Formats: sequence, C-alpha cells, structure tokens
Amino acid sequence: MNYFFCDIDGVLTTGHKFYDKTGLPFSKTFYDKDFTALKELQTLDFKIFFITGDENINRNVLENRNYQVFISRFEEKNDIIKREFKFANDDKIFSIGDDIFDLGMLKMANVPICPSNAHPMILEYCSKQPNGIITKSRGGYGVIAEFVGLYCKNNNINLNYNKIIEIDRKEKF
Ligand SMILES: [Mg+2]
Repeated sequence: MNYFFCDIDGVLTTGHKFYDKTGLPFSKTFYDKDFTALKELQTLDFKIFFITGDENINRNVLENRNYQVFISRFEEKNDIIKREFKFANDDKIFSIGDDIFDLGMLKMANVPICPSNAHPMILEYCSKQPNGIITKSRGGYGVIAEFVGLYCKNNNINLNYNKIIEIDRKEKF
C-alpha cells in the first residue's frame, strides 16, 4: 500500500494567507491541477491524508473533496501518523511538506518530497535522502501535479481518466 501524507499551506497553497481584522485567515490560493493530480493518485491506489497546523479554510477545502484531514496545531505530525496508522513492512510512505513542522513527517517517509521554496532545513533534508524529491514547482504552483507526473513517467503508468472523472463527480468542490 502507498500512503501519501500531505501538508497543505505552502504545498497545496502558495503559503500566502489573507487575514481579516479578527486576525484569522479568510483566503488562500490553491492550484486546480493539484486537485486533479490528487485524483490521479487515488486511481493508483494511494491512500491520501492531509495534516495541517491551520484548519482555517483547509479543513473545508479538503473535506469537500472527501479527504481526511488531521489537525497538528498542538501535536507533532509524525506523532499523529504513528498513533493513527499501523504500517506493514511493504507499505511505502510518501510525505510532502515545506516547513520545519514537517521534518518529523518527512523523516518517517520512504520518499520525502518538498517544493523548491521549502524552508532551508527541509530542502537540505530532502536533498540528502536517496529517494528525496525537490520539485521545480513552488508551493501552490503545481507541486503535487509535478510529483504525480514524475511518478507516472518513472513507473510507465497510463492513467485511467474515466476513473478520475468518477472520483471528481463525488466531490462537492
Ligand atoms: Mg506548510
């Protein structure tokens, strides 16, 4: 089984947040083709989970698309994964994150992935791992789409678009 643990802010979004006068974010920028890429991963039997420190906007966006979201505001992401999942020896873990809060989660992964504008500590970690991937894309500009494209190319995978459309129809938006 392939597991895909994904940070949200700075990976799916640009990491920019627009705040209202209460000091809470009311707007973030996501990239549509990353949502398509996530559906592509589902057709390849990846189990996808999101782990974010900021549930504002993120929880609704991802739950509207039928993904499970874990909130890591007061807990380390790797501790949540350890608590919630039991992995088999042949499971493969993919983790993707951009900031220092993701380091533990990236360290658990067989394939740690980060965007090109990740925090220097994360870039250094991913660059030193044999299976590490640093995308050319910056956060919010197709990081997931680039990873899925690479994965399909490296594994000679042709995607089943009927399956992707089927998944899309079940999403609220
Ligand atoms: Mg982040």
